[in-house]
Amino acid sequence: MPTKDEILTALATVEDPEINKPITELGMVEDVAIEGSRVGVKIKLTIPGCPLKDRITRDVTDAVMQLPDVDDVQVAFGSMTDEERQQLSADLRAQNGAANPEMEIPFAAADSPTKVIAVASGKGGVGKSTVTVNLAAALAKQGYRVGVMDADIWGYSIPRMLGAEGKPVAFDGMVMPLQAHGCKVISIGFFTDPDRSVIWRGPMLHRALQQFLSDVHWGEIDFLLCDLPPGTGDIAISLAQMLPNADMVVVTTPQQAAQKVALRAGKATEQTGMKVAGVIENMAGFTDPASGATHDIFGTGGGEELAEALETEMLGRIPIDPRLTESGDAGVPLVVSQPDVPASQAITKVAEQIAARSRSVVGRSLPLTVS
Ligand code: ADP
Repeated sequence: MPTKDEILTALATVEDPEINKPITELGMVEDVAIEGSRVGVKIKLTIPGCPLKDRITRDVTDAVMQLPDVDDVQVAFGSMTDEERQQLSADLRAQNGAANPEMEIPFAAADSPTKVIAVASGKGGVGKSTVTVNLAAALAKQGYRVGVMDADIWGYSIPRMLGAEGKPVAFDGMVMPLQAHGCKVISIGFFTDPDRSVIWRGPMLHRALQQFLSDVHWGEIDFLLCDLPPGTGDIAISLAQMLPNADMVVVTTPQQAAQKVALRAGKATEQTGMKVAGVIENMAGFTDPASGATHDIFGTGGGEELAEALETEMLGRIPIDPRLTESGDAGVPLVVSQPDVPASQAITKVAEQIAARSRSVVGRSLPLTVS
């Protein structure tokens, strides 16, 4: 006959699919009954009628059936009381690192272990979002815990590029990010109708960003990558105010004009107090697979000039590769689907540099297998 402790140990391997924490830690195991080799488990759902009941039933059954003395598992459900739910939400907030559980931004604290990196560009279409998702996936592959916050409120493309679909669950004001390719993801795109453009200004924007930072259960993460809208604007200023320790990387193409607008964006953001940590040159040269010849379709040198003007480093050059577009459309970053092509290698190298610099502040977990 299995013991209650053995069953609880087995249940500790089952995570709530939305909160991504063991159900035992979340106080979701209400009761365990043992009768010979038959085991009954009663689970308290965070919300009644939770759509993930089937998944939880399967996971609980699989975990308990692993025990040698068990040959039948029955799963029953109840739901948390309002007080229990509020307590859980307060606990999750506390784990977020907030000193004050209400509306605190955990990443703003001077001793926050999370490195926040804002990805900016002077104008749209230079590949800022493509670079963000691939950098995030590359960092996750290297074993870091990564969050991606899509702050490109008007032109959000992160959900599509990461293949993150669905509506995040929320209870008592805590929102659970979606998971994709080893990253936690949040985007305004999860909350809006895709066919209607979003008209947000000043205070509303500020509030939306603040919610992304304080009300989303990011948990313990090593990196938070924020995809900023192009240009200089309210968002960069708001973010700089909310996240005084954030670094910014600027994505530009090799073209002179792109470099000039990127310079304006970089300078303006510097004035907000955000540190520019480096420049990434994207769409740098196209190598014809047939002849092997490289064509500098968008010119050369823009990245270096920008890095010089901003008195920062060039972090890397990513070549033009149509597979970056295809992989973005397919929702699987190229660094995941084809890690060995030059564009993926270039992005992986940038991720390694960013990680190396931040190593003093972030802890490294075991490498994940990301499929
Ligand atoms: P932004 O976020 O700056 O507006 P996107 O990441 O949406 O830019 O990229 C704009 C378009 O350019 C997308 O179709 C994307 O797939 C494509 N793209 C980005 N980087 C590259 C690259 N290195 N090679 C080829 N296409 C690219």
